[in-house]
Amino acid sequence: MSIEVKNITKIYGKQKALDDVSFSIEPGNIVGFLGPNGAGKSTMMKIITCYIPQSFGEVKVCGFDVVENPIEVKRQVGYLPEHNPLYLDMYVKEYLDFIGGVHKIDNRQNRVKEMIDMVGLGIEQNKKIGALSKGYRQRVGLAQAMIHDPKVLILDEPTTGLDPNQLEEIRTLIKNIGKEKTIMLSTHIMQEVEAICDRTIIINHGKIVANDSTESLGKQGKVNLVLTVEFDKVVTQDQLKSIAGVFQVVKHKDNNWAFEVENDKVRNNIFQYAMDNDLVVLTMQKETENLEAVFKKLTT
Ligand code: ADP
Ligand code: MG
Repeated sequence: MSIEVKNITKIYGKQKALDDVSFSIEPGNIVGFLGPNGAGKSTMMKIITCYIPQSFGEVKVCGFDVVENPIEVKRQVGYLPEHNPLYLDMYVKEYLDFIGGVHKIDNRQNRVKEMIDMVGLGIEQNKKIGALSKGYRQRVGLAQAMIHDPKVLILDEPTTGLDPNQLEEIRTLIKNIGKEKTIMLSTHIMQEVEAICDRTIIINHGKIVANDSTESLGKQGKVNLVLTVEFDKVVTQDQLKSIAGVFQVVKHKDNNWAFEVENDKVRNNIFQYAMDNDLVVLTMQKETENLEAVFKKLTT
């Protein structure tokens, strides 16, 4: 296992930030750590990366215990903290060289060049970090996390605060990095895990409430199939309820209706009903199943 977390509890003063948390992450996976603000995501990540100690329980990274063998753990782990603290007055190359020095990397100049290529910092490499956009600062953060070639990457909200273009670029970069490394990334955004992660662990109030493949978690959100239909004329709810295979009909607005139906075939019944009753179906849309519903159900 790349990461093994067993019965971790973290207490800050009187508050339990993590409450008996256990999970494991296999090598090569990209795992999303999803939860609302204050759920305990950053706390868990700081424990895994040896930045703070747990109160109870055990964490191993690539087989090394975070308390007994922190030096070895830090060798195996790259960490991009929340808010990506960087030295804004340093030049990109200078900063990466400095981090390379901290890790006592041989042939540092070459490694810095490699990292700049890997994260696509080429055109910005001679600037001061303070002059970079948020998206490029995240690239610097990813480069510093990977400079010592760790097996595991821990990324705390790596895309928060990025604009849609930067977001897409950083997601693509993370997916590419994930082909070679184990990645655990935290986020409070459902779409993020749907876009990047093989597995999703949902945490709420310091407890794990779901741990499954992102695909099957998404499917749990789908109670029944929902179709939204727009007719050209006014119809009543009672009329629409009588259509075979329809469990429920709710009016969205005007002639727009949401149908909760048994299966895909009910679409034909709706079209048939429209024809029989001199109605025209202007639009019919299948609501996409999503993780959002699961997330809301589990965290509220
Ligand atoms: P998340 O990253 O999911 O937003 P955190 O791990 O940062 O959540 O925080 C979990 C809970 O622990 C929050 O209620 C937060 O206020 C509390 N907390 C975090 N760090 C500290 C600290 N150093 N001292 C006291 N409470 C803290
Ligand atoms: Mg956090």
